[in-house]
Amino acid sequence: MENTNISIIVPLLNEQESLRPLTEWIAKVMQQHSYTYEIIMVDDGSKDKSWQEIEKLSLENTNIRGIKFRRNYGKSAALNVGFEHCKGDVVITMDADLQDSPEEIPGLYDMITKEGYDLVSGWKKKRYDSKLAKNIPSKLFNATTRMFSGIKLHDFNCGLKAYKKDVVKSIEVYGEMHRYIPVIAKWAGFSNIGEKVVQHQKRQFGKSKFGMNRFINGYLDLVSIMFVSKFSKKPMHFFGAIGSIMFFIGIVAALILGIQKLVALSRGWNPQMHLVTDSPYFYISLVMLILGAQLFLTGFLAELVGRNSSTRNNYLIEKEQNF
Ligand code: UDP
Ligand code: MG
Repeated sequence: MENTNISIIVPLLNEQESLRPLTEWIAKVMQQHSYTYEIIMVDDGSKDKSWQEIEKLSLENTNIRGIKFRRNYGKSAALNVGFEHCKGDVVITMDADLQDSPEEIPGLYDMITKEGYDLVSGWKKKRYDSKLAKNIPSKLFNATTRMFSGIKLHDFNCGLKAYKKDVVKSIEVYGEMHRYIPVIAKWAGFSNIGEKVVQHQKRQFGKSKFGMNRFINGYLDLVSIMFVSKFSKKPMHFFGAIGSIMFFIGIVAALILGIQKLVALSRGWNPQMHLVTDSPYFYISLVMLILGAQLFLTGFLAELVGRNSSTRNNYLIEKEQNF
């Protein structure tokens, strides 16, 4: 069987009108550049006629393949399933709503194959979405993610991205984590991440599936990704360290308290300082000792949980020799 140059993964939810123009446009670009390709349409539980449309299109063009979820699981889930099923050397993800342009695919393909990028993210420099609901919150989101991840991208959440096959076969996206794929990829060891300015269009059919709530969840997801990737294999290093520091402060505070009490006693009766509960050190010591012990225990429990995980010894192996 001949190998596939490009897999195009399209997650979609209620996008029936866009599917035909989109696939025709993609097919045209693919033919112009004589790529071998597959289009994987992942129907994320659409309630309209999207799936019927996909069945029809796949009969007309056998490069079009479809997967249908029984219910709506979210864009990340759809992408993840696409990643599992694709077989192209370069994998492109794009939205179904015609906001991303297929004309960008050859440029992205070349950046992966010729310039050696692991991942290239689109950058909707000129964006056609509502200012208040999308553009401004997005700037904030991108700035935070840039700061925490150290990846210099302007537009993390762009639906149009290109990947080396290795990348998508090594990472896992779930929940709302599709926004952080570059971050996940970087922490999986794919550090050659690039950016390409891409055309963006106004949505022609249907309406946007993401509202404001994505920002709250988005930030929580960033925290979990950072935490899991940094500490999931060694939770004690996080909790144990903080716990020990707190416990230490608690002990020091208790010592100060004891010394103050002794000094006060040795000087005879002191009306200002006759009870330990009058000193702030008492409360500092109390809180720090309790919290410190709890954090330490949390770390210890997390270690025990981690020990039981079946993936505790899963490492991504890039190459092997003489095996
Ligand atoms: N999408 C999906 N599952 C969902 C929500 C969205 O597969 O639960 C798809 C949607 O059909 C589109 C892409 O994800 O192809 C991007 O969604 P949308 O255009 O609504 O996002 P926006 O461009 O407004 O940020
Ligand atoms: Mg869109």
